[in-house]
Amino acid sequence: MKITSIEAYKIDLRLPEPFSISFKTFTHAENILVVIRTDEGFSGFGECAPFKPITGDSREEAEMLIKAVSKKLMDKDPGDIEDIHKTVEEAEKDTGIHSQTTKAAIDFACYDLWGKNEEKPVYELLGAKTPNVTPTTLTIGIKSIEDTVKSAEKYMELYKDSGLRRIKLKLSGNPEEDVKRVTAVADVFSGELTLDANQGYKDPKIAVKVLDEIFSTVGKRVILIEEPCPKGDLEKMKYVSDRSEIPVFADESAATFEDARKVIEASAARGINIKLQKAGGIYWASKIAEIACENNVSLMVGTMLESSISVAAGANFVSSSPGIINADLDADLYFSVKLTTSETTPPFKYGARLPSGLPGLGIELAEWLIRIIEEDINIAKIST
Ligand SMILES: [Mg+2]
Repeated sequence: MKITSIEAYKIDLRLPEPFSISFKTFTHAENILVVIRTDEGFSGFGECAPFKPITGDSREEAEMLIKAVSKKLMDKDPGDIEDIHKTVEEAEKDTGIHSQTTKAAIDFACYDLWGKNEEKPVYELLGAKTPNVTPTTLTIGIKSIEDTVKSAEKYMELYKDSGLRRIKLKLSGNPEEDVKRVTAVADVFSGELTLDANQGYKDPKIAVKVLDEIFSTVGKRVILIEEPCPKGDLEKMKYVSDRSEIPVFADESAATFEDARKVIEASAARGINIKLQKAGGIYWASKIAEIACENNVSLMVGTMLESSISVAAGANFVSSSPGIINADLDADLYFSVKLTTSETTPPFKYGARLPSGLPGLGIELAEWLIRIIEEDINIAKIST
């Protein structure tokens, strides 16, 4: 099987309401759809969901790297994932442009093609016979206490048939507000909670105090806290991790394989939030999972603001490994525009996002998207 073409399209995904984390409010995602075709007539799909402070790249950088690498990937076998990644890295060296989300998008499309060629879902290529079911969280951004509770109740109603078991709350970095919001949700929602401070606590002592207070009220129903302190300050992270009953997971500080290795070596966190977009795809995510398991570090898998294409890659990856204790595969649920058909979008059931079970990533593009790609309308094509 040989790669015969690579196409890329800019896609803007609008959120129905603004989504706030401790340092940013998002109104939409600026992503790139990547389509790789082969001589056997298969099409593989991938997506870049860049956000510089987390993935380290912008859409412009992703766009430039896709252009630079496309020619080099022609005639390559998409099933030779290692060679594909080497080729992307060579293009990074040649151009001086680094883009983890480009690696991720190309990696997804190649795994998709490899699976389609072998007639196997990606989780099977990764070694699982049947998909492991790992609960996913639905996320509530920073809002007033009243609106946070309303959002939790809305999720409970909307997703009661999906077996919703976990909600994730973004923390603001304001101790009093954060404690109140978490305990207010714990009062109305009987499931488990995860927290994400997105670096909001500059003082690790205050972070420990807030977490102690939350733990004393809500207890073990709070299963983890992501990135309490500023990115890259592993001493602060370790300070919180060593003292908090709530396990600390590194997210922004563990973007790439190298970052994750540093977090593990410093024993700075009890877990790592792998996001395929910042790791550089399934290939690199598997390598992070390997060193984490060797060192008894827990894993969760999260998302950027990404559509069901990238979420399908996440669902296959999560389903392939029993070592992943939590998933945060919800981003696509919030966009009103759907990029994949409803039959092939990873279903939300038993509290988890599961792969559709079809070969490759298991997704088919929505008809409207196929039409605008074919007719090249209302979408920005990145010519290579
Ligand atoms: Mg996070």
